[in-house]
Amino acid sequence: MICLGIEGTAHSIGVGIIRDMGGKCEVISNVIKIYHPEKGGIHPREAANHHANHIADLIRESVEKAQIDFTNIDLISFSNGPGLGPCLRTAATAARALSLSLKKPIMGVNHCVAHLEIGRGTLRDCMDPVLLYTSGANTQVIAFAEGRYRVFGETLDIGIGNCLDKFGRSVGLEFPSGPKIEKLASLGKEYFELPYSIKGMDIAFSGLLTAAENFYSNGEKLEDICYSIQETTFAALTEVTERAIAHTEKDEVLLGGGVAANKRLRDMVQTMAKERGASFFVPSKDLCIDNGAMIAWLGVLMYNSGIRMKVENSFIDQRFRTDMVDVSWRD
Ligand code: AMP
Ligand code: MG
Repeated sequence: MICLGIEGTAHSIGVGIIRDMGGKCEVISNVIKIYHPEKGGIHPREAANHHANHIADLIRESVEKAQIDFTNIDLISFSNGPGLGPCLRTAATAARALSLSLKKPIMGVNHCVAHLEIGRGTLRDCMDPVLLYTSGANTQVIAFAEGRYRVFGETLDIGIGNCLDKFGRSVGLEFPSGPKIEKLASLGKEYFELPYSIKGMDIAFSGLLTAAENFYSNGEKLEDICYSIQETTFAALTEVTERAIAHTEKDEVLLGGGVAANKRLRDMVQTMAKERGASFFVPSKDLCIDNGAMIAWLGVLMYNSGIRMKVENSFIDQRFRTDMVDVSWRD
């Protein structure tokens, strides 16, 4: 089975084509265009216009790169939430148009669950992980328990990527600021104490963000502040992930989301996994960030488990939560 997946929950519009290799996923193409606001954060309407401008070309490009014909596609899948309304509607509209014109079934899939399934689908020995999902808008620790992907811990305010981007914006770094902060942090030497807020299994970042901005206004070195932000936020994320592993008694950790590109985060989580005797997994960068291939793969899993969706019922849900999905493809 070959599936084309469309991702468009936030700043990226991506199209991926995958082939089901009997339970494992072969990515045959995965193309993406990322919206960069001229200034400030993501404006949902502008991001949606960006997606609308690029989607047709991306679909053509993905089919060319996959070296297939449109008639070879068996299923169209798209991310139907969570995300920004105008962006979700743009991706859904493209998926519906494609489904109707190719006369192929459509499947709306949960974006967060797709981040986890692409790890299981493409990485050898990654079977039942605890996922630390760290992206711009989302930050969650997710694992499978009793028929659903449960959220064991999550941010109470902003996502970790958002926290980095907001700090970057207030000190004049370009969007996305995560990679720039990583570079600056590697030059930092002095650690400033920042609020480390974990409540139960949940995390909050906005207090830390304000404190970091205050250090900057007080003239402290940007490199040191970046270093302190990374050390504090990543330690908190690692702590919650470790507690989820202990609670679920799983022995695999998977990273996902754009912030998973960060070497310091990877190192911290990997060290924790090693100390617990757990395996550590991280997909290649193009599968960590928001991408169409993961959406295509989850579409296949759902379709193969018997789920069907009609175009007229292919709704989007801005607040589609991870634990709302009935995971019928796992036992
Ligand atoms: P996503 O929302 O999953 O597409 O991820 C985008 C987020 O990842 C943005 O907030 C970026 O700032 C962040 N990001 C990308 N690369 C890095 C990096 N090397 N270190 C930290 N954050 C990063
Ligand atoms: Mg994402």
